Amino acid sequence: MNDTKHYGFTTTILHNDRRKPIEQGSLHKPIHTSVTFGYGDARQLASVFQGKEPGFRYGRQGNPTVAALEDKVTKMEDGVATICFATGMGAIGALFQALLKAGDHIVSSSFLFGNTNSLWNTAAGQGVDVSFVDATDVANVEAALKPNTRFVFVETIANPRTQVADLARIGALCRERGVLFVVDNTMTTPYLFRPKNVGAGLVVNALTKSIAGHGIALGGALTDTGLFDWAAYPNIAPNFRKLAPGAQGMAQVRAKALRDFGASLGPEAAHHIAVGAETLALRMERTCANALALATMLEADERVAAVHYPGLASHPQHQIASELFRAPGSLFSFELREDIDCFDYLNRLKLGIPASNLGDTRTLVIPVAHTIFFEMGAERRASMGIAESLIRVSVGIEDTADLLDDFGGALNATA
Ligand SMILES: *Cc1c(COP(=O)(O)O)cnc(C)c1O
Repeated sequence: MNDTKHYGFTTTILHNDRRKPIEQGSLHKPIHTSVTFGYGDARQLASVFQGKEPGFRYGRQGNPTVAALEDKVTKMEDGVATICFATGMGAIGALFQALLKAGDHIVSSSFLFGNTNSLWNTAAGQGVDVSFVDATDVANVEAALKPNTRFVFVETIANPRTQVADLARIGALCRERGVLFVVDNTMTTPYLFRPKNVGAGLVVNALTKSIAGHGIALGGALTDTGLFDWAAYPNIAPNFRKLAPGAQGMAQVRAKALRDFGASLGPEAAHHIAVGAETLALRMERTCANALALATMLEADERVAAVHYPGLASHPQHQIASELFRAPGSLFSFELREDIDCFDYLNRLKLGIPASNLGDTRTLVIPVAHTIFFEMGAERRASMGIAESLIRVSVGIEDTADLLDDFGGALNATA
């Protein structure tokens, strides 16, 4: 289909496979399960291996079904290239495996997904100097920069306390200093926000969450926005230096992280994620509206001590979130009054399911300090603003009235 017209977000995703060479008229990219790819001409195999012509060699480095998803994510993020991984952590781990060396320094927001926090501690144990800063204020990021800072890493809306990083100012600072800016866009998704617009060079998406949306497949992605000058990145190995400057970063990530560490996304999971992504925009509209309704109701209740949601005027970064994001996200967290036991409350919910995923079509709830943030201990939790009674809510696409009834009814039954 030779159609170069610029379409909207959802139209682009739905018709992307069809705009490529289609197979048997299939509207979805078929699931290619073959691990290897044969060539009639051995010279062609050699030239694919040498990167002189495009083609697939072995499933660990790439697969046609996964490539179709990578292309969709690139379009969603308005980037130049995407590499998919078996999980979101696989994508973040790739930053460590492919782009850092002992003696390097990174600056990371201290308000982080728990496993990313754990990964940076692993990096620190292997000779990477890590500075954790409060990234809601660019001044803290600036003060932490060193001559050997390789990248600055932030989440758009931090999971679970919903702090919003000072994205535009950090992007401008990184551009000025020539430092790679990496943004984990999982909580906003490319539908609510494109990190490229604030100067991010790399974008992380945990595809497992809202992009897939159904909770039936794990996956992650790293997208190159094309803004960062890889020729200026010190850790590119000589064999990747031979490539065009714009291609060096992703070529090294694909080789060092995907080929050498093997956190490859399988074709079946890629298919499930691609199908889910078709309805991303519709689901985000609904989940964000539901989240705002629930957060507003709970904030007005005197039995609730605090509600953290960037859509509320009381949120410290409400203004920045309103300027940058199409909507304030589908996740909020809240604290009950001290005399109310959070487990008693959660057990009275009939729709909110105690579970640890997020971005699902169903509403999921979790007592943060006792589960996903248990391992790090009370001191680190306190530094991240995590109260012991904090409940995280990943809001689904249920009917709004049913959710309000469920969360309000459980409060009446508990307190
Ligand atoms: C879940 C999550 C990840 C990790 O994704 P997985 O697919 O579970 O490995 C990374 N960052 C954020 C913000 C997340 O919520």
